Formats: sequence, C-alpha cells, structure tokens
Amino acid sequence: MLFIANGEGWPGVPTTVEMLKSGADSLTALVAGISRVEVDARVRSVGYGGWPNMLGEMECDAAVMDGTTREVGSVGAVPNTIPVARLAHEVMKRLPHVMLTGAGARRFATETGFSVDDVLFPDSKRVWRERLLKEMTPEQAECFPDIPLAPLLKTITDPERVRDTTVYLSADPARGIHAATSTSGWAWKYPGRLGDSPIPGAGFYADSRYGAAACTHTGEMTMRCATARTVVLAIKLGYSLGDAIKLAVDELGELTEGFLGGVVIHAVDAKGNHEVVNFRCQSEIRYWLWDGAMPEPELRPAKTI
Ligand code: ASP
Repeated sequence: MLFIANGEGWPGVPTTVEMLKSGADSLTALVAGISRVEVDARVRSVGYGGWPNMLGEMECDAAVMDGTTREVGSVGAVPNTIPVARLAHEVMKRLPHVMLTGAGARRFATETGFSVDDVLFPDSKRVWRERLLKEMTPEQAECFPDIPLAPLLKTITDPERVRDTTVYLSADPARGIHAATSTSGWAWKYPGRLGDSPIPGAGFYADSRYGAAACTHTGEMTMRCATARTVVLAIKLGYSLGDAIKLAVDELGELTEGFLGGVVIHAVDAKGNHEVVNFRCQSEIRYWLWDGAMPEPELRPAKTI
C-alpha cells in the first residue's frame, strides 16, 4: 500500500492512514481524510479555511477517481458546502454524470442530505475585503459589486500566497489506485472560475493498471496541458514514472503565453513508486508519504525540477 498527500493535507492524513491500515475502501478512506482538511480553518486553501471569489463568496471544487473502473465524481464552484470531496464521491456513486457545478451541485447536496454550510471563515472575509478595497478606486468601491470585475483580476493575483489544494493518492496491488482532490481555488477568482482540481485529466487522473497523478498550484497551466492524464498515459506507453513526470513538466515549460505559474505534480505508479515534483513554485513544497510498512506517515521534501 502506498499513500501520498500534499503538505496542506495534514489534518486528514492520520485518518486516511488508519482507515487504509484497517482495510477500508480506498476512496472512502481518502475522502474521510480530506473531509478533515475541509473543516480545519488552519488550512488556508481548502474548505472552511479557504478563500472566497471576487464577490466574497466561497465556491469550492473537488473530485474523486476510481482508477480501476475509471469512474469519476466531480463538483465545481459549489456554494454553501464544506464536505465537497464527499459530495463528489456521491456524484460518482449515485449519478450517471461525472461533474456537477454551482447551483445544480448544491441542489444535489440538499437532495442527498448535506447541510447548508456557512463556509466563509471570518478571517478570510476580512482579508478579502481589505485587499479588494486597496485595489478599487473610491468610485469602484461605492458601486461594488455592480462594476466590471475582470480588470481587478490582474492586480490581486498572488498565486503563491493564496492558492493551494489538497490532493490524496493511494495505490495498492489489491485495492487499486485512487485519487481525491479538494480546494477553494484561487482567492479573488472571477465568480464561476473552475480550477483544475475538479477536472479529470488536468488536476487528477488514476488508472489502476498504470498509476495516478494529481496537481496543485496553477490550474490554468495543468488544464492547458492535461498534466495528470499526460503522466498516466506516458506510463501506459512505457515511460518510467520519472520520465512520465518529466514529459508532463516539459509540456508545462513549453507554455510561454497566457497566465503562467508554478505547478506541483504528485504521482504514483502501479509498481509502488512515487514522486512529487515542484515546477517553478517559489515556496518550499513538502508532501506526506505512508508506504504501508512505515509506522507513521512521513513529511518529505518535493523534488525541484
Ligand atoms: N490548482 C488549484 C486551482 O487552480 C489551486 C492550487 O492548487 O493552488 O484551483
């Protein structure tokens, strides 16, 4: 058994590891751990501790993927809901669809018995408001929110400080390979913006025959390159895990126009290997590893490419 999670995923790592140890269904174990991250206000990028969009509204994204069946459940821009990874899992289990967004996702949450949550953490609201007021002219502030929002996007983009995601991957010869993600996305994003975390192939992908990958940081890069799918497809085509990641990184590096930023790729293969690679993120990137034999999960540094 192999389990990796990004550094931000710390509140749920013990839960997932304990469940995996006791033989729980892998996806249920990943979602149970991520649910702990989503309610923990100390994690300032996921669920309750995350950041709102330009209007000060929380819109969370999440997904799950079963690499054995290649079934996916995904939700995007969901309002008023904290356990969005669990909601994505319900989409996978109950619907013929792969992805629900916005009001439809919230409607499904209500139908499935999820509470209507107050997701906006008071400190996130304060920071959102202060930064926005700093960027707006007095005229814009007076008319807000009935002003064009797009011109404000450039000025408050600070991807290193106000973005992240939690990604969990597990691989087991008997139970298969699974992926789960959850994020509040990019702070001050344009309302309705989806990142890569709910997009299969971009922010995550799993195929039990070959491996899985999940990305954090600039979704605007991984969506353009289908980064997670690239890693898994390259393994299918015979690349080693390291070479598969290198191929995906080379593709990210070929982007020269549009919004550019750093990406972290987390990946496992069906042979029991794993790698976490930092491409152009300024901050120090670490991840959690538990390999089934370790007494406790360990926090390790990512490789910088
Ligand atoms: N990848 C996420 C997104 O683009 C954010 C992050 O991981 O930093 O929404």
